[in-house]
Amino acid sequence: MAASDSPLDRRRVASPPPTDPQTRAEALSVAARALRAAEHVCVLSGAGLSAESGIPTFRDAQTGLWATYSPQELATAEAFAANPTRVWQWYAARRAMVRSAQPNPGHQALLTLASRVAHCTLVTQNVDDLLERAGLRNVISLHGSLMRARCSAGCAGTIVPTEAQAAEPPLCATCGALMRPDVVWFGEPMPMVEFEAARNATVACDVFLSVGTSNVVEPAASLPWISATHGATVIVVNPSMEGQRRGPSILPIEGPAGVMLPRLIAEAFAGRRARRQDTAAPPIRESASATEPELPVESSSLASALPDQPSA
Ligand SMILES: [Zn+2]
Repeated sequence: MAASDSPLDRRRVASPPPTDPQTRAEALSVAARALRAAEHVCVLSGAGLSAESGIPTFRDAQTGLWATYSPQELATAEAFAANPTRVWQWYAARRAMVRSAQPNPGHQALLTLASRVAHCTLVTQNVDDLLERAGLRNVISLHGSLMRARCSAGCAGTIVPTEAQAAEPPLCATCGALMRPDVVWFGEPMPMVEFEAARNATVACDVFLSVGTSNVVEPAASLPWISATHGATVIVVNPSMEGQRRGPSILPIEGPAGVMLPRLIAEAFAGRRARRQDTAAPPIRESASATEPELPVESSSLASALPDQPSA
């Protein structure tokens, strides 16, 4: 869910004519080299990645009865205060949609990426749990989680709602207030800790990989361009480049994430074994070299993949 639909927050970036003559194949090749050399990759994923798993965007999900309501009647604190049952049922319906969806090859490619680079920060604007279900850990969720509910009165209570709780918002076990979806509604700020973590990774990374987002809804929209000004190579994977900025350090890879990401990751890492042991990434299968068995992990590389230990 987007954080805000205030006109001031939706700054559409005018796209200048392309200045670099790169074809998609050239961009792919340059992007693969950048990923292979990177120590720290920051990924920002958006609705397009989930859409490829069949999860409709907020507006596309508004079919049937739900089409009669505006987003402001379903996704604001005011709407929840006025009609908690309606809002709760809308999110329960979306949660059911997510539960029936599966991670796609784009999610799987990100898991492989996370296992191949020394440091990978995963930031998402999506409220589903497909990145986690693909095996990714420590995902920074800028817009909260559809799969969780929290106390509407602001106490620390959170739950994972069950399908049996789809009809009415349950009560907080601590204070008795209504539980609300743990997502960022229109007009609400992004969670500060998560946004700071995302911004820190944006500034620190060598490569910023934007996937399935048009990068027009602030404040997340600025992250790739902030990263570019701090010297990172920015890779943009999206079916359309409309609204995306252009520049010498920005590599546009036009196409669906489920097709382009596996291609990109295979080109970058085929034949290389996982550097990190804290993910369950499968070996890359797209190339002949990937048919070789994975080598046993050397103790030195395993040590570098583990957190620093105090010396004995
Ligand atoms: Zn409470």
